[in-house]
Amino acid sequence: MITTQLYIDGQWQSPAAQGTRPITCPIDETVVAQAAEATREDARRAIAAARRAFEGPWRSSTIRERAKLLNRIADLIDKDAPNLARLESLNTGKTLTESSTDMSDIAATFRYFAALVAGEAGAVNEAPPHVISRTLREPVGVCGLITPWNYPLLQAAWKIAPALGAGNTVVIKPSNLTPLTTHRFTQLLCELDLPPGVFNLVTGGGEVGAELAESRDVDLVSFTGGAVAGESIMKAATGNFKRIALELGGKNPNVVFADADLDVAVDYALNAAFFHAGQVCSAGSRLMVEDGIYDEFLTRLAQRLPRIVVGSGLEAGTQMGPVQSAQQRDKILGMVERGVAEGARLVYGGRRPEGARYERGFWLEPTLLADVTADMTIAKEEIFGPVVTAERFTSEAEVLRLANDTPYGLAAAVWTRDLDKANRMSRALRFGTVWANDYHPYFPEAPWGGYKASGIGRELARVGLDEYTELKHSYINLAPKAMGWFGA
Ligand code: NAD
Repeated sequence: MITTQLYIDGQWQSPAAQGTRPITCPIDETVVAQAAEATREDARRAIAAARRAFEGPWRSSTIRERAKLLNRIADLIDKDAPNLARLESLNTGKTLTESSTDMSDIAATFRYFAALVAGEAGAVNEAPPHVISRTLREPVGVCGLITPWNYPLLQAAWKIAPALGAGNTVVIKPSNLTPLTTHRFTQLLCELDLPPGVFNLVTGGGEVGAELAESRDVDLVSFTGGAVAGESIMKAATGNFKRIALELGGKNPNVVFADADLDVAVDYALNAAFFHAGQVCSAGSRLMVEDGIYDEFLTRLAQRLPRIVVGSGLEAGTQMGPVQSAQQRDKILGMVERGVAEGARLVYGGRRPEGARYERGFWLEPTLLADVTADMTIAKEEIFGPVVTAERFTSEAEVLRLANDTPYGLAAAVWTRDLDKANRMSRALRFGTVWANDYHPYFPEAPWGGYKASGIGRELARVGLDEYTELKHSYINLAPKAMGWFGA
């Protein structure tokens, strides 16, 4: 049995209130770990340690030292990747292939930010000869990082790498459902002799996250998760006007025009909707298909669904694992039921798969709901499970209007052989990422984030580092003289 502790001020320790929380494996509902359950008091100690470290020696760390640190972290991730991937699968139920991909993406993220940090030079501005005017980037201070359960270590890496790289100190709080890989990451970090307090781990629930959002000693909070917590963090952050970055949910249209390559579009529609059992913020769960190919497209899609291998992510050959929790499973089933009640046609799935192996664990069949209209709840709200809904459209103008008519704006895709149309749609869709003839690719060099209710700010790319810095104009007058503005 794995047991986890908090890591505060360079020390592994138990929560002050000695709380623990059982960690359940979604594959078979066994308890695989007992995680330390922190309280606000622990969070306050972690924040204080991060503050001391920020005011202390870490403040004078150089970009070269920090770039080296990020590269060394990437090396440690690579070395421990099989173990980390297994832990991630055990804790989230995602397949080992999915978890292993996460681990290589995580190492790539640290290396990308290492290179970016190493290239930081500041800028010398044009100024009179007796003046040195520079634009400097400085760390923001103490960063509270709050992560969700669907990509536990990947989402953490997107925050930790730029935060540390820019010279900040960190208190991270992973989801209390999935703390195991962030805990293991912290163990790895201990090999690197960071000054105490630079990196702190507090595992616990929403109260601990709320403490990070409310604390006047936290200068920036970066959150990935749902809208309810996002809103409360945004309000809490006003106490000291701390910086906020919010990566929230999505309702992502996957638009297929009649001139698309159907074989490829069907294949990608599966990946868009069922990768990690659809528990992806950018999942292409809202399929929109042009009238002329709608029936054929859905027939082909429906034929593929029974062939998706649903099972333990730890076994080779599994293509889709369970969902994260009983609560999620019941929420998803409720959404399917609601869809049917509102007039959608259940083509496949919508229940737990049959067989002894599915008796324990949080299983769902891949599900297709057809003849969905834009006014139905399932076309408007995030389902966050292995469910794809299909709507029919008749023109480019219509699909554009329907696809944009959502409070969210995270990701969208369009399938067509007409590159003019692909370009028009890419520009007109109001989403942070728009793919054409592809789905899901992201990489550290490109920004990630949402329009509208999908969030505030961007992660990854240059902008993902800038989020963790303050800009300073430094002006040095080398030959000061009396000004005489108010006479002698
Ligand atoms: P969640 O909002 O329930 O929890 C996210 C984190 O916030 C957890 O660590 C949780 O303990 C903490 N938290 C909960 N209430 C809080 C509060 N009041 N103050 C501070 N922290 C609080 O989200 P989840 O269920 O873990 O994750 C699923 C959601 O995350 C989905 O909506 C998904 O779309 C979104 N998500 C978005 C992205 C993105 O990049 N935009 C990526 C992954 C997940």
